Parts: sequence; structure tokens; C-alpha cells
Amino acid sequence: MAIYFDSIVFGPVRSRRLGSSLGINLLPLKGKICSFDCVYCECGWNSEGHSDNKIPTVEEVREALESKLSECHRDNIPVDSITFSGNGEPTLHPDFPEIIDYTILLRDELFPKAVISVLSNATMLGRPGVKEALRKIENPILKLDGVDKDYVKLIDRPQNPNYSISEVISNLEWFEGDFILQTMFLRGVVNDVEVDSMRSDLLERWQRMVIALRPREVMLYTLDRKTPLSTLEKVSVEEMELAAAPLKEAGIKIRISG
Ligand code: SF4
Repeated sequence: MAIYFDSIVFGPVRSRRLGSSLGINLLPLKGKICSFDCVYCECGWNSEGHSDNKIPTVEEVREALESKLSECHRDNIPVDSITFSGNGEPTLHPDFPEIIDYTILLRDELFPKAVISVLSNATMLGRPGVKEALRKIENPILKLDGVDKDYVKLIDRPQNPNYSISEVISNLEWFEGDFILQTMFLRGVVNDVEVDSMRSDLLERWQRMVIALRPREVMLYTLDRKTPLSTLEKVSVEEMELAAAPLKEAGIKIRISG
């Protein structure tokens, strides 16, 4: 059973990474829309839900955000991060760049010390204005789970048949290291195929890619909640520490969530 964020603005919630985080969901309230359909997605499969396909308008997002930020400001509720995540991929919203622009204005007015974070799967970086919008905020947190196309196809299930990892990598290069890379580590069975992020050839290619991209931080994480596919397992923090060791040696900041 999928669990959805049932409002445009939610929280603030306590986040280990981001502190007091006010969430923004630019997708439907009762279903997920995503350019991936990851086997580990906490919102379930793309095909579930969908009693509601409506995405909020720019005006609706602005009103919801302004009202919640004003309320937090009035009641002295801290907001450390305004965080775009929600029921799917936030950069799929057609007005994403405009929404980022006024989020910056509202943040500057009401919570100037808060950062703006976007959790994105990096598939839409080629769409006009998306990269530029992400460059304006403090925390573009961009996912790339691997470099091997068969592995990524199995665990992230890109919805676009023309999805290209090399295109994503060249879009990430455009950030010149000023982004946070996020990678999921797991193992299990997907479509009768054994997958394991710790397989040495997959891991080595991923490490080489990260060292070449030199993101300002790398977030490694593993399964935390129930996943739509039940044949998956967590990897241990110790394994992720080993995976990250060459990156640390190369001077890249690492954050691991087990
Ligand atoms: S990219 Fe994120 S929202 Fe989309 S399917 Fe994967 S985990 Fe879910």
C-alpha cells in the first residue's frame, strides 16, 4: 500500500540531513508521477493510486507556501530547509523554474537563513530552465544509482526508453561539482535477476564516475521503509563505508544513512 504526501506543503518535519525541513510536493496528492519507477520507492509503483492526477498550479503552490511560511514565522517554528520532494519527481512540474524563483523570494523575506533543497532523480536536467533553477538553490540533491545501464534499468526503471546515463552524467558535469550526489545501495532479486550494488565491477565504475564528477558531497543511503518490491535487502553501514573509502581519500565529503 503506497503512502502519499496529501498536501502541497507538509511539515516542518525533523530531518537528520536537513534539520527542520518544510516539504513541498509539486505532484498529485493521491498518486505518484515520476520519470523513474524505482523498486525501492516509498511512494509505491507509478501505477498505484492515481485517483488524482492533478498537479498543483503555480498559484496554488505559491499560496500554500506563503501561508505556511508566514504561519511558521508568526509562531516561531524553525525552518532550516524548504525541501522539494513529495509524490514523484519535482522537476517534472512544467513551471518548476518559476516556482523556484518565488520560493527564493519568499525564503529571503521570511526565513533568510533557510536553505532550499530539491531531491531529484536528475532525469529532467536537459529540460529548459531546470539546471539553471537548480543552480540557484543551495542544495540540488541529484540521484544517480549507478553507471551500468542494465543495473539502473532494473532498480530505477526509467520510464523513457531513451534514458541515457551518459547524458545524465554530462548534465551533472555542467554543475562543476556544485551539487550533492545521492546513491541508493541495496541488494536482492528483481525480475528473477540478482542485483547487488556492492558487486565489485558496479562499485568500481560508480566510484570512478563520482571521482570524475567531484560533487561537493555524496549521500549514500539504503532501504529504510517498506518497498513496493519485497525481495530487496538493506546493505550495512560498514559496507557503504568501504564503498565510500576511495572517495573520502579523494577528498570528497561523504554522508552515510543506514
Ligand atoms: S526517483 Fe524517487 S520518487 Fe521517483 S520512483 Fe525513484 S524513489 Fe520514487
